[in-house]
Amino acid sequence: MRMNEMQFACLKDRLKAASNSKFYKKKFKESGFCPEDVRTPEDIVKIPFSSKEDLRNAYPLGLQAVPDSEVVRIHSSSGTTGLPVIIPYTAQDVTDWSIMMARCFETAGITKEDRFQITPGYGLWTAGIGFQAGVERLGAMAVPMGPGNTEKQIQMMVDLKTTVLGATSSYALLLAEQIQKRGLKDKISLKKGIIGSERWGDKMRQRIQEELDISLYDIYGLTEIYGPGISISCEGKKELHYWDDYLFFEIVDFQTGEPVKDGEVGELVITTLKKQGAPLLRYRTRDLTRLITEPCSCGCKYPRHDRIIGRADDMCKVKGVNIYPAQIDGLLSSIDGASSEYQIQVDHVNGKDEMILRFEKEGSVEKQNIESHVQKMFKSKIGILVQTEALEKGGLPRSEKKTVRIIDNRMD
Ligand code: ZN
Repeated sequence: MRMNEMQFACLKDRLKAASNSKFYKKKFKESGFCPEDVRTPEDIVKIPFSSKEDLRNAYPLGLQAVPDSEVVRIHSSSGTTGLPVIIPYTAQDVTDWSIMMARCFETAGITKEDRFQITPGYGLWTAGIGFQAGVERLGAMAVPMGPGNTEKQIQMMVDLKTTVLGATSSYALLLAEQIQKRGLKDKISLKKGIIGSERWGDKMRQRIQEELDISLYDIYGLTEIYGPGISISCEGKKELHYWDDYLFFEIVDFQTGEPVKDGEVGELVITTLKKQGAPLLRYRTRDLTRLITEPCSCGCKYPRHDRIIGRADDMCKVKGVNIYPAQIDGLLSSIDGASSEYQIQVDHVNGKDEMILRFEKEGSVEKQNIESHVQKMFKSKIGILVQTEALEKGGLPRSEKKTVRIIDNRMD
């Protein structure tokens, strides 16, 4: 999508600002890029990409593009692999983020009358504080619980008649199950759930929706770019509206970095148009999605992107076809007798790719029948013939952390 005049003016301004950070000074110098090279909106492609790895190397405050006196807060991404990324915010950044968050909540139909229970964590992580600022800006009542203590969460939900739940999908499911188990469904007033931070399948969505009888909205964001709240889905739709007065989105081929055709899936690349503390130019999110060109029937004027369908690192190419975890989630979700737990293994045998899809079966379905059914559906929906193996419930390894879905043995 082409950059408009307003966005382009912001870009030029941010290029100048970014040049004040150690990080971009070095990056521009190393890549031979000069901000003056950007003369038209199309020239954005001349700007070198920034990656998470680059940002880590700027630890602790290499990204800062304003004097210390203007920084009011920092946030940090989790440092599970290597150094964390630290993002400094100015007062204006904090305000802008709360505006985006409030806009998200408005898009989800939340009003001043609502009571919003916030269960994501507070602290270095952006989620809790971001939700809080958006709820307050909108004028709803924030119930700042933070994570955990399910007993107390449910009690507050009942006593305060909370109408909106902000949570990760796994925590929303856990709360839904506990409410069901205690027979408290009639005592809660929840109407909406704002769900963020993980990719989640349709089966999980359906379960939360049914158990709590609420509407769900996907909220998206990342610490490097403010935090959650840079886009949200609207009523009854899966696509998310994003705020193009603050952010410019590009979709690129994650291997070549070249722009993809309009509407094609690729890696989301974000340029911040107003961020002061740590402006980011062409930041590679590693998230896979596509931009939607048609306007939304809800009437919201902001453009949309599709659901995040996976991470670029999780994608694999088998027999020349790109396979994303979300496709397999989607396929298994549509088949009765198959659960959403699966693992794929890819090998290279006699010069050819071979793939086996292992999944857990549900109910009393017969092993052979479900295996051949899944095989047929895989061929018709994803386009390649794979072997299938149905396991009993619990037959696949569970992980506390990130479940390994793809085992690729084709190295070298
Ligand atoms: Zn819409």
